[in-house]
Amino acid sequence: MKYDYIIAGAGCAGLSLLHAILIDEKLQNKTILVVDKDQKKSNDRTWCFWEKEAGDFEQILYHQWKKLQFLSSDIEKEFDLEKYTYKMIRGIDFYNHIFKIASQFKNVSFVNEEITHISSTKNTGKLTTKNNEYEANFIFNSTNLFNPKTTTEDTLLQHFKGWNIKVEKPIFNDKLATLMDFRIQQKQGATFMYVLPTSPTEALIEYTLFSKEILDQNEYISELKKYINTYLRIDSYEIVHEEFGVIPMSLANFKRSTEHAKNVINIGTAGGFTKASSGYTFQFIQKNTQAIVTNLKADKNPLETIKFRERVFEWYDRTLLEVLLSEKLEGKEIFSTMFKKVPADIILAFLGNESTILEELKIMTCLPLMPFLSSGIKQLT
Ligand SMILES: Cc1cc2nc3c(=O)[nH]c(=O)nc-3n(C[C@H](O)[C@H](O)[C@H](O)COP(=O)(O)OP(=O)(O)OC[C@H]3O[C@@H](n4cnc5c(N)ncnc54)[C@H](O)[C@@H]3O)c2cc1C
Repeated sequence: MKYDYIIAGAGCAGLSLLHAILIDEKLQNKTILVVDKDQKKSNDRTWCFWEKEAGDFEQILYHQWKKLQFLSSDIEKEFDLEKYTYKMIRGIDFYNHIFKIASQFKNVSFVNEEITHISSTKNTGKLTTKNNEYEANFIFNSTNLFNPKTTTEDTLLQHFKGWNIKVEKPIFNDKLATLMDFRIQQKQGATFMYVLPTSPTEALIEYTLFSKEILDQNEYISELKKYINTYLRIDSYEIVHEEFGVIPMSLANFKRSTEHAKNVINIGTAGGFTKASSGYTFQFIQKNTQAIVTNLKADKNPLETIKFRERVFEWYDRTLLEVLLSEKLEGKEIFSTMFKKVPADIILAFLGNESTILEELKIMTCLPLMPFLSSGIKQLT
């Protein structure tokens, strides 16, 4: 059987696409095969992102905040968000929600197999697993089969360990999320904590670094313990859940299309949807998914051509990443300067590729010119 679409990888990008197709009246009857080596039954990650309006996943939000704080050695600032809401979704709620919707569609099948190869002939995408071969008009791939090789020269790793902790007495303000706390020791690059309270007695505390190499697991643990004791002044707590992640922040070319394979479209991190300078991916997956669905509905090739403004944001990203990679400025200094001088809504608009040129100028003029100018020129060539 030849499917209309194969979705290779049932993670954030694969399932976001499946969801967007199934809630669309024109596309929901297409035959779809979803292939993943994993059953996606564990709560393997928590996504935070920001948006202005209610999004497609409003009913599974785990928590949301209209107030953020930014902390560093010389700044402690709280921001009331006017335009944006900062939101959190747990991986397991997202997977279950989409599997439940998909179970109502007979035209959608799932297999748990390891994909070994994806290729394309003139009108057909071919996906190979250990024991089977599947065909479709289009294959949407979010596995790392086509990822470019990265090096320590062109890629920083955003690596983090997060603990969901629970305390007996109510001590957290669950209306206020700490987006970045840079008061901690700067290990080998930008190093900060997220503190995301989800109730007066529970919070996700995440120790995060942008650096070339990951740490030994014991180091994350000891820094989390130190922070919880010293900064949050909590002695007794229960760890109810933990997560660990490594996200590439890369100048390497994660391509949306694969050479010679017009029917194979890379999505998610594999398709370059991860914002190079921040590691945020969830909201960019949603935007790109919408663009793909719009093209599919119009019977156009789903491969979205990158627009001029997106290219500009890509250049900003590459410039900021190059400044960090070349250690011209410390991440702590860059983010502290921005949060000191620019309202959080504008920073979020900028980091979400939604800012106006005027807002971008506001950000650029608050940062030291020379390091950004030389990196910016380098990234133009
Ligand atoms: C712990 C963690 C926390 C994160 N938090 C945030 C956050 O707060 N905000 C944000 O914007 N981003 C966050 N990210 C980054 C990003 O949003 C996620 O990594 C996101 O899941 C990327 O989506 P994806 O679909 O590209 O990849 P994935 O969600 O990883 O999906 C890829 C899928 O492909 C499958 N697969 C891979 N190889 C094969 C193969 N050979 N055969 C079969 N199946 C295969 C995998 O099993 C997986 O299900 C986080 C990442 C991690 C790891």
